[in-house]
Amino acid sequence: MQSFELLEQFGHEQVIYCSNKESGLKAIIAIHDTTLGPAIGGTRMWSYSSYDAALKDVLRLSRGMTYKASVAGLNLGGGNAVIIKDKDTVKSEQLFRTFGKFVDGLAGRYITAEDVGTTVRDMEYVRMETEYVTGISKALGGSGDPSPVTAYGVYIGMKACAQARWGSDSLRGRKIAIQGAGQLARYLCEHLYNEGAEIYITDIDEEKVKRVLETVKAFVVKPEEIYEQEVDIFSPCALGGIINDDTIPELKCEIIAGGANNQLEAEATHGKQLLEKGILYAPDYVINAGGLINVANEIEGYRQDRAMKQAESIYDIVKRIIAISEKENIPTYFASNRMAEERLASIGGITKIYSGAKKISGLNRR
Ligand code: NAD
Repeated sequence: MQSFELLEQFGHEQVIYCSNKESGLKAIIAIHDTTLGPAIGGTRMWSYSSYDAALKDVLRLSRGMTYKASVAGLNLGGGNAVIIKDKDTVKSEQLFRTFGKFVDGLAGRYITAEDVGTTVRDMEYVRMETEYVTGISKALGGSGDPSPVTAYGVYIGMKACAQARWGSDSLRGRKIAIQGAGQLARYLCEHLYNEGAEIYITDIDEEKVKRVLETVKAFVVKPEEIYEQEVDIFSPCALGGIINDDTIPELKCEIIAGGANNQLEAEATHGKQLLEKGILYAPDYVINAGGLINVANEIEGYRQDRAMKQAESIYDIVKRIIAISEKENIPTYFASNRMAEERLASIGGITKIYSGAKKISGLNRR
């Protein structure tokens, strides 16, 4: 497909190809939509099967960020970057500082952060060349690991689902199966345990499970048995694409509420299947928006207590999405996508209005 057609198909504003011989950098930055504010989204470093595959990934990820920021009520747009890893790419100060130069050249239209394949350390190199980076370490004035805020948002979103399904948001005595025992799951388990939930946990890495068991009591299950657990809630906190034709028939839960990205293998098909099976699905990008709320806070001067407080808004957002889904008998993911698009359209209308030049010598662009 031709590149402009691809951009039009997903509704993107701009795609930037970055190439530098000295550092070996090959990167693509995609800015999906800046109606609400600067495009924000991580930098993924990955070994792709082709440049086309890298382009498709960055277009998909950046579009997802627009929806996430919009539903979360943030004044941020959607963007993402990928650094293409091939056999010659070396992760180095030079590589990330070069990437930082390209980000800086966008003058704030795109703000980056770490993502799969990049670390806080890598972002600190990016920071040497541009201020348009978030998620850097606390020591450098950043917000550090976003997982505590993400986990709190997932917990709050789970409670909103419980309220909608059972008439009470208490998770006391509820059986909850958690896939993955990484950073996010670790903090989530603490909230659930403190509330008296019965936790069933799995990970392919036994050490991760052991670390969780240091602070909470939980039943450990085998990775392949997590879907079939007789539980009230299934919480995917590891990988994407795990809700699919194979796993849906196995599920015995009433609610799916977890922090992993892109849980539905095929959004339309599997979202509909869950609705038909009577399983309430909390859209992943809504319930895991705490991470984005965290970095959005960093832009304004970071305070974790404020980020936590803002993550509580996920409760009402999830409730609104469920109400629309029930009223119109549509999948929850569909209801949340629509909510995101409606906010973009309505706030986009406001930015049309010229509110006077901010500086005598400058033009007000919004
Ligand atoms: P993590 O890498 O710390 O943890 C993921 C865990 O999943 C690892 O321990 C890994 O061993 C385990 N895992 C992988 N495959 C598995 C399988 N088949 N069965 C069971 N366990 C498996 O990552 P994280 O930060 O905890 O994030 C988890 C998910 O949440 C990811 O999809 C991430 O993109 C998403 N997410 C995280 C945040 C955040 O703030 N941490 C924010 C938004 C979204």
